[in-house]
Amino acid sequence: MTLRFQGIGMTSRRTRERMIKRLQEQGIRSHAVLAAMCDIPRHIFVDEALASRAYEDTALPIGYNQTISQPYIVAKMTELLFADGELRNVLEIGTGCGYQTALLARFAEHVYTVERILQLQKKAKRHLWDLHLRNVSYLHSDGGWGWPEHAAYDGILVSAAPTEVPRRLLEQMAVGGVMIIPIALQEGQELQKIVRTKTSFEVEVLEPVSFVPFLSGRS
Ligand code: SAH
Repeated sequence: MTLRFQGIGMTSRRTRERMIKRLQEQGIRSHAVLAAMCDIPRHIFVDEALASRAYEDTALPIGYNQTISQPYIVAKMTELLFADGELRNVLEIGTGCGYQTALLARFAEHVYTVERILQLQKKAKRHLWDLHLRNVSYLHSDGGWGWPEHAAYDGILVSAAPTEVPRRLLEQMAVGGVMIIPIALQEGQELQKIVRTKTSFEVEVLEPVSFVPFLSGRS
């Protein structure tokens, strides 16, 4: 029954291809990102009851007041992070359901992902294991601390919006490294790209976004 449903239903190849076409229309150019998103089954990361909506261009609840980011923003952030090619190590803050993590694991040699809600982290770990993604390490912690043991990072991707860039994340960037991060301002959130040079940090403001807040502590 399940198999038959997958063959003809909302989680089929055709449904995924529709998502890819929409992403292209929205301006996603990277063929590698589009191919990976066509390949990774997004529906396994959401509750069964929502699986039929997994490929729509929308954020969906994943429990604990959190959401899986909409496909466009996942694609955009990944494309921005890997604009200059492959990265050795990537730090992700906000594992959530692990879908973005799965995508990062396709492009980075190793992904270090930090989540403050233990139950979400456990579920994500299971899904990524099922997908045979073994180049991912998990930490249950407040991402504001980063993960200093494995720094410096070529790439840092943050999926929750702080009011300013956490200093420790800046410190853990390699020279030449890139960080993609949403920042919450009074008038709304904006996506920023930060590049560490030998002497400073260059900040580029990209587009308005809408992420859950970056919270401190663990639960
Ligand atoms: N890319 C994820 C986004 C999930 S929402 C996905 O698509 O599923 C953002 C996640 O960031 C939530 O799981 C939330 O618990 C986590 N988060 C928020 N603040 C955090 C912090 N300080 N440290 C670690 N994780 C944090």
